[in-house]
Amino acid sequence: MSQRSSAAVSAPAVEGADRVVDSAVAEPAARPAAAAPTVPAGPPALPPTVTAALVSPATPIAAAALPAQSLGGVSTDWLAGGLPASPAADFVSGALLLARRTAPRAAGAAAAQPAAVTLVDPNQHVLLIGVDGTNLSAILADPYNQAFFDLMNSGTTAAATMVGHTTISDPGWTGILTGVWSETAGVSNNVFTPWTYDTWPTVFNQLEAADPDIATTSIGNWEVIAQIAGAGSAPADTIVFYPKINDSWLETDDAVGARSVEAIQNTVAGVPSFQMTYFVGVDDTGHDTGGSGTPEYAEALRNVNDNIADMMSAVDAWETANPGEEWTVIVVTDHGQVPEAPLGLGLLAHGFQSPPETTVFVIADGPDFLDGAINNTYSQVDVTPTVLSLFGVAPEPYFAGVPLMDRSDSDYFPALPGQGALQNALSDAIDMYGYPDILTDITLTLRTIVATVPYFIYTVFTDLSAAVPEFLQLPILAIGAVIYNLVNIPVQLLVRLTGVSGNEILPPQWWPYNPVPGTQPVAPVPAAAIAV
Ligand SMILES: [Zn+2]
Repeated sequence: MSQRSSAAVSAPAVEGADRVVDSAVAEPAARPAAAAPTVPAGPPALPPTVTAALVSPATPIAAAALPAQSLGGVSTDWLAGGLPASPAADFVSGALLLARRTAPRAAGAAAAQPAAVTLVDPNQHVLLIGVDGTNLSAILADPYNQAFFDLMNSGTTAAATMVGHTTISDPGWTGILTGVWSETAGVSNNVFTPWTYDTWPTVFNQLEAADPDIATTSIGNWEVIAQIAGAGSAPADTIVFYPKINDSWLETDDAVGARSVEAIQNTVAGVPSFQMTYFVGVDDTGHDTGGSGTPEYAEALRNVNDNIADMMSAVDAWETANPGEEWTVIVVTDHGQVPEAPLGLGLLAHGFQSPPETTVFVIADGPDFLDGAINNTYSQVDVTPTVLSLFGVAPEPYFAGVPLMDRSDSDYFPALPGQGALQNALSDAIDMYGYPDILTDITLTLRTIVATVPYFIYTVFTDLSAAVPEFLQLPILAIGAVIYNLVNIPVQLLVRLTGVSGNEILPPQWWPYNPVPGTQPVAPVPAAAIAV
């Protein structure tokens, strides 16, 4: 079974440059994502009408789309109102979820015959830069971060909030890349769940379904981003995943940046393109060193800044060489981090509801966005609707977000001109955000603690399997899978009670390990090794 090889893939023994991971390509029908490239792209796997009927109508989705209501600080009753009306109602939706496993597949298959023909703008190029776990306040605090400031000066920036939603990476990026909040999609920890994106198609799926000729690319250094890009009915055309290089997140981020520059340079004029570049270095440095207040975190952020500078130079050069085709660049993070992790445990740098964790940012720079403006109504779940809209693809009615362009009525400018005034105005905006109401705070804290337990088990057994001789790997993973499921089933039940409507309780995912699709470039030989 292909899944067996997945554990090896999650800690790959890289043998050659740009080695294609066979397991991802050879994945059987159980994984529609991998099978899809050879199939003409059709509409998203699940018609929104079906989806809408199966999820609890009272998910806390629209909540953070209205950040102004939280400006008072502590009192955010609207969030509590967004939580499920009653556990009983959720169990009903849970029962329906079981039916979903089969019915929507059939519905999706039935709907798949006529390929959706959408008139896509052939001159559209969108670059989405994801910087994991990055505080806007940390960007603003360091004058070194000029590449970020340049984007703010030539685009529109949001000090946004995700208060009321889980501040963990997979939930965060799932929201960014599907247009629905993690509660709706059912993602509450960092265990990748491929079935999620069969129900809630990614931006890659949606673009490929609208027009397979759009060149879609994902370049990053966290497995889950590559897995999300490879999931669903029609995955990204090009997926590049960099495992950690020389035990250095900064070097790994540099590899991502360099590969992204190359991808920008190789973008073909007249062929629409969507590229996502993802940097994990800032977030992981915060985890390794104790939060967003450490000098190492600031250093990792400077390093991303330098990579963004290189990428923007490549975009500028490309635009000069190809007049009439302009790029739109969107920069986003999935959550923030606390400056000082509780108990000195880097693990606790985020996942909860404090303002540093829930305050995020979105920067949009392109022909549709005002220079140097601020718009705090932007939300992470607007990213997918925005990208689709830029290509001329109609956003799905079930989206929690809207195209950022539709929020332009809320654009405003700092009272004074200049970069300093823009930074001050953004700092003022950050200061507006507080905690959710106490019930939401407690509920989401419990969700994170509970949901982290199966992730912990998953991590222990994947790490263990990577450290033992090959013949022991499968038995260890099998034991891990059993323990994982014994824990995960009741955990998902509890997670459902905290307001996550889209998670799967039964049937269990007996084999939680999944391969990483795409290519995994070989790590460069360390300089020290060459010297010897
Ligand atoms: Zn993250």
